[in-house]
Amino acid sequence: MTEPTPLDREQLQPIVTAVHLRETAALLGLRVLLPPLAPCPTCGSQPTELVVNSDHPAHFLEDRVAFGFRPCGHTFTADSEDLHKAYNAARRETP
Ligand SMILES: [Zn+2]
Repeated sequence: MTEPTPLDREQLQPIVTAVHLRETAALLGLRVLLPPLAPCPTCGSQPTELVVNSDHPAHFLEDRVAFGFRPCGHTFTADSEDLHKAYNAARRETP
C-alpha cells in the first residue's frame, strides 16, 4: 500500500460532484441509473467504488479525510475544508 496522494480543491471537485450526483440519484430511487464516479486522479481508470478510510489518527488531528478507489486501490487525502467547499459548489451546480 502506497502513501495516499493529497488532493487540492480543484482536483477534489469532480470527485465530490460525482458523489453528490450519485447520492441525489440514490435518494430519488434511481439506483439502477446511478451516474458514474469520477475517474481516479492517479491512474484515470473508472472506479466502481469510493471507500472512505477514517482510521488514521494523523488525519483526525490534521482535519483531513482519507479515501480510496476500488478496484484500482489508489488512495487520497483531502482537507476537510476543501471537501466542504467542493460539496457546496456541487450543490449549487445541480438542481
Ligand atoms: Zn487509480
